[in-house]
Amino acid sequence: MARTKGTAPEHPSTRELRGLALYRDHADEIRFEGGVWLVPSQHDNTSIYEVVIGRHGEVCECADFERRGLACKHIHAATVARAKTRECAGCSGRFRGRDLVEVGDDSLVFFEGDELCRPCARTHGAL
Ligand SMILES: [Zn+2]
Ligand SMILES: [Zn+2]
Repeated sequence: MARTKGTAPEHPSTRELRGLALYRDHADEIRFEGGVWLVPSQHDNTSIYEVVIGRHGEVCECADFERRGLACKHIHAATVARAKTRECAGCSGRFRGRDLVEVGDDSLVFFEGDELCRPCARTHGAL
């Protein structure tokens, strides 16, 4: 007897793949400012989309997200960027590991093991 599946076979998410490609190509341009991820357009280097990854879901301002209300490639790219970054204890920005400095036990402002971005580390004398 042939087995039938209740649901249609699921396509691999092309948006997820495009989001990964977008991250790979533009990792240095994806920034986190004021709680918002700024993700450049993959093909048009003058456009930047604001992506918010919140506790209640993700939002992007692109037409694709507006139409479908589902994660677009910008959201996928921002999700990857988020996973690959950590928070600066000084400015709450997010940075990749190589751009963070660990605070030693001689700091009066931060806890040992806190991480600071380079501008914050310079400001607080932790470099
Ligand atoms: Zn989008
Ligand atoms: Zn900082």
